[in-house]
Amino acid sequence: MRPIITSSQLLSYDNEQELDPARAQLLARAKQAAADAYAPYSKFKVGSAVLLANGEVVIGSNQENAAYPLTMCGERVAIFAASALYPKEKIAKVAITIISEKGNINRPVTPCGACRQALLENETRTQADIELILQGDSGEVYVIKTVKDILPFIFDASFL
Ligand SMILES: [Zn+2]
Repeated sequence: MRPIITSSQLLSYDNEQELDPARAQLLARAKQAAADAYAPYSKFKVGSAVLLANGEVVIGSNQENAAYPLTMCGERVAIFAASALYPKEKIAKVAITIISEKGNINRPVTPCGACRQALLENETRTQADIELILQGDSGEVYVIKTVKDILPFIFDASFL
């Protein structure tokens, strides 16, 4: 037996003012998208803004349903829309943020496991790392250079 230890890295910023203007702008687009989320059940509005290699920005927000399992996360709405609109473009950065109607969350909200897997599929397909920019309602911002940093022991096409 031998232990296997993984490591991951992220950059922590105190708030969006500490970011460079381009990242701050992408995060602001994600916040705008969150405002338009359809989240009447969770009251947890998620917005995402995808920056493509060609400079285009595609937004998404969570879309809930009275039949709860039909709900789709905001970041998956955004990356799927980006892939549908620009199938050959690489994704450079994805900003994800929230508006919680149940109270201020001042720490970064990270993607759920399913979204990490979906983001990873895009990284693998395009062979390009995707930078994540994550924030809660306000406060600290995480910048993560690749999805692999938050999804160790990945499952990808190499197994198939
Ligand atoms: Zn998700």
